[in-house]
Amino acid sequence: MNIVLFGPPGAGKGTQAARLKEKYGLAHLATGDMLRAAVAAGTELGRKVEKIMERGELVPDEMVVALIAERIEQPDCEKGFILDGFPRTLAQAEALDRMLAEHGKRIDAVIEIRVDDDRLIDRIRRRIAESGGARSDDNEETLKTRLEVYHRQTAPLLPYYRQRGVLYTVDGMQPIDEVTRQIEAILDRLR
Ligand code: ADP
Repeated sequence: MNIVLFGPPGAGKGTQAARLKEKYGLAHLATGDMLRAAVAAGTELGRKVEKIMERGELVPDEMVVALIAERIEQPDCEKGFILDGFPRTLAQAEALDRMLAEHGKRIDAVIEIRVDDDRLIDRIRRRIAESGGARSDDNEETLKTRLEVYHRQTAPLLPYYRQRGVLYTVDGMQPIDEVTRQIEAILDRLR
């Protein structure tokens, strides 16, 4: 089972992914985490993306597509994976479909975790306060850019997946356990 967790920054994708990973034995592939690791390690990729990420903009498609292409070849992805933060553009979604098709695989479900912008702003403000700014893109200025980028570049993927009949939407403003329960209900029907 290969799934995409879809939603704006602060929707709770990472929290839900960690739970689903446990329950279904799926690999968790979070491009944001992978890019932050590259920045922390000071790799060539990390140096290229650092400033872009700090501004809250998207890094070039070819860079994240290359990261994911390499990652889904790893043995822990054989039984299935959860994509978190990817794809974020139509070009990424198309590249993903192509690389999966090459391996006779597909995306079985795209789970949209829907949260209103006001609620996201509150959540990320709280995350900034609690972490003391541990994430360099968690700040007031970047937050606005990240939300704009989501609406302009990423949300247009929803019709793409709806047309393919794999889109499911859950209300991400419910308690965390309830969101998990609803996602599990969707996935249990697919298994
Ligand atoms: P958020 O909490 O805002 O959803 P992520 O941790 O998923 O953040 O990503 C942080 C940053 O990493 C993004 O703002 C972007 O610069 C970069 N990034 C992550 N995934 C992608 C992607 N699929 N395409 C382009 N840029 C990405």
